[in-house]
Amino acid sequence: MLPFKLVYSPGYFLPIGEHVFPAEKYRLVHERLLAEGIASPEDFLAPAPASDDDILLVHTRDYVHKLKTGTLSASEQLQMEVPYSPELVRAFWLAAGGSILAAQRAVAEGCAFNLGGGFHHAFPGHGEGFCMIHDVAVAIRRLQKDQQIARAMTVDCDVHQGNGTAAIFGGHRANPGRLPSWSGAMFGMHADELAPPPDASVFTISLHQENNYPSWKPPSSIDVNLPDATTDDDYLGWLDNALSSGLRSFAPDLLCYIAGADPYKEDQLGGLALTLEGLKRRDELVFRVARARNIPVMVTFAGGYARKLEDTVTIHCNTVVAAHEVFAASRL
Ligand SMILES: [Zn+2]
Repeated sequence: MLPFKLVYSPGYFLPIGEHVFPAEKYRLVHERLLAEGIASPEDFLAPAPASDDDILLVHTRDYVHKLKTGTLSASEQLQMEVPYSPELVRAFWLAAGGSILAAQRAVAEGCAFNLGGGFHHAFPGHGEGFCMIHDVAVAIRRLQKDQQIARAMTVDCDVHQGNGTAAIFGGHRANPGRLPSWSGAMFGMHADELAPPPDASVFTISLHQENNYPSWKPPSSIDVNLPDATTDDDYLGWLDNALSSGLRSFAPDLLCYIAGADPYKEDQLGGLALTLEGLKRRDELVFRVARARNIPVMVTFAGGYARKLEDTVTIHCNTVVAAHEVFAASRL
């Protein structure tokens, strides 16, 4: 039995047809974890969908209304890059509920996974980059509202910058260095999403390939813009630096780790060059740092578009293995 819970539902499947996003990966990760004995059935928890009130802690009433009534404009649907359907709305509400549950269990038990989620490109008033609802932000806001946490840190290791996260929390830094207000409009931003005031309660870290989507990168608290073809050791050095400097200036009650599988060298949408082993070392580093400081960790999966789907499944399963190694050792 694992020393933490894995939140999962078959309802995480995204009904998006033939798509570069492998919607069946969630089911395959669940099956692999059981087949290889990494997890057993009692390690899993089933989530309930987030409530509309939870979603509205992050997203605008206008956007939520459009999602619930199927009235997104054609350009809003295009920007999301996944085909709208009421079933898809249900899957995203469920993923957000999964992240809330994982965050609650992480605070109670030190670590928990949502075997889904990590939809870090969703903005308050629009979806983009395969992301409709920002499940991690919803979970942070819900736990803040319930006074289970005051301060959270996001550590985003997806190959793509966490633009939605940065836009929602506004980049907690001394000198935000805002882009001119017209910049967002050029990229389909809505007026109420531009230049939010920095939120001193959430610190956002993003390590990503600079030369990749999104072209406009609103500032995180720490952005590490990596060059193309960055390899394991360089990546781990940058991650170590970012975690150290973030945690020198900010003490979170919860660390939300967005464990994207797409920094992998065989990824179709990524241009970094990490190996399977390097990605597992990345996971171990995040978990070791959190454990050493007694910071609860909530994990979500985010992107993964490896040429071979089984590699994406391996990367996600290895994140569970890495957490087991680190958190089991901490109980000795
Ligand atoms: Zn990504």
